Amino acid sequence: MLVAVQSPEGTKRIECKSSESINSFLRKVQSAFDVKADFTLYRERNRKVPLLSSDRKQLTHYGIQQGDTLYLSFQSNENKPVPMETGTPSKRESDVPTFPNTLEDKVDTYLFKQNGTIHRDRDPKLCQHGPKGKCVHCIPMEPYNEAYLQEQNIKHMSFHSYLRKLTGGIDKIYIYYRGKFAALENISCKIKDGCKEHLPWPQGICTKCQPSALTLNRQPYRHVDNVVFENPFLVERFLNYWRCTGHQRIGILYGFYEPHKDVPLGIKATVTAIYEPPQVR
Ligand SMILES: [Zn+2]
Ligand SMILES: [Zn+2]
Repeated sequence: MLVAVQSPEGTKRIECKSSESINSFLRKVQSAFDVKADFTLYRERNRKVPLLSSDRKQLTHYGIQQGDTLYLSFQSNENKPVPMETGTPSKRESDVPTFPNTLEDKVDTYLFKQNGTIHRDRDPKLCQHGPKGKCVHCIPMEPYNEAYLQEQNIKHMSFHSYLRKLTGGIDKIYIYYRGKFAALENISCKIKDGCKEHLPWPQGICTKCQPSALTLNRQPYRHVDNVVFENPFLVERFLNYWRCTGHQRIGILYGFYEPHKDVPLGIKATVTAIYEPPQVR
C-alpha cells in the first residue's frame, strides 16, 4: 500500500505493507526524507499520537491503511516524544539515557552514574607537594587511560570507558546519544545502476558508479570484560558435546551482570544456566 507522509519539506509517498513493523516503516521514512536528526511521525494532523518505535507492533496497530496521511515533525523541541524511544523520554541532560526499545540492565544504569576515574596516590618520587595536594603525576586518570590498561594487563577497555572516551566525560554521554549514537546510517555498497560510460558491471566500472571504499575497524572495547560460570559442570557438559562429536552447538547463556572490580567501568557476567535449543548435529 502507499501511505503519504507530510513534512515541512513536502509530502512523500512511502510504499509499505500493513503488516510492516513500525521500526521498518520509520526507517523508510527516515531514508525517504534523508533525515539525519531526530524526528517524530504522527498519526493525525493535530500531532497528538506519535508512532512509537517498535519492532513488534505493525502499522495496523495505529490503524494505518492504504492512502492514509501521516505527519512528520523534525525534532527540535526536547519535550516532544521521540520515535526511537519507548516510555517517557528523559528531558534533562544529566538523566541516564534510555536506549531504543530496550530495558537497560541495572549494571548499565549503575555504571552510567559512576565517575569512573582511576584514583592515584601521591607519587613519593615525582610529587613535590604535601599529602593533600594533587599534581599531574597523581590526579585521577580517565578509565580509558591506555598506559594504565596496559600496566594492568587489560587488553581492551570496557564499553562504558569507551563511551566516556568518545564523549569526553559522563555529562556529555546523553548529548552524544541523542546526536550520534542513535543515528546509524544505512550504508549502500551497491554499484550505481545505469552508468553510460561503459558496459554494465561486471564488464565495466568507473569512479562514477563504483561504491565508495569501506574500511573495517577493529572494535576497541569489550561489552563484557569477564565471563564466569557459576557451576563448572555447566560449561563442561556443554563443551563435552563438542569434544565428543567435533560438531558445533549453540547455547543461550542465562545469568546476570555486575560491575567488574578490576576493570575500570567494566562488566562481569555470571552464567547460571545454558539453554540449548533443539538443534540437529
Ligand atoms: Zn602529585
Ligand atoms: Zn561507471
